[in-house]
Amino acid sequence: MTEIIRRNDVRSLTVAVMDVPCCQGLVRLARQALHDSGKRMPITVEVIGIKEPQVRTWPAMSQQKETAMKKYRCTVCDYVYDPEKGDPDSGIKPGTPFESLPDDWSAPCAVDKSNFEPVD
Ligand SMILES: [Zn+2]
Repeated sequence: MTEIIRRNDVRSLTVAVMDVPCCQGLVRLARQALHDSGKRMPITVEVIGIKEPQVRTWPAMSQQKETAMKKYRCTVCDYVYDPEKGDPDSGIKPGTPFESLPDDWSAPCAVDKSNFEPVD
């Protein structure tokens, strides 16, 4: 497979897999072949299953999620702000990134955003 990618001028790779665990190996194989060929292109994984068809593009999606949904911890009281949960008690909807919190938002111990640090 690596040879195929290297010799031909392919611009993108689409891997169709069935929605069963054994086919995940095919995706790994495709990524490895792409890596070995030294070319950079998006791999589109089409999962064929009984459920709704879903298309995942690698690696663009995972990178975006890492930067957008980071948790932050209050250095004063150890409260952790989780963007996926938000802060319903303060009217912050689930899915709100820390960066988008209003400046007057405060931790349970009443200190502001400047006392928070990112959690790895
Ligand atoms: Zn605090």
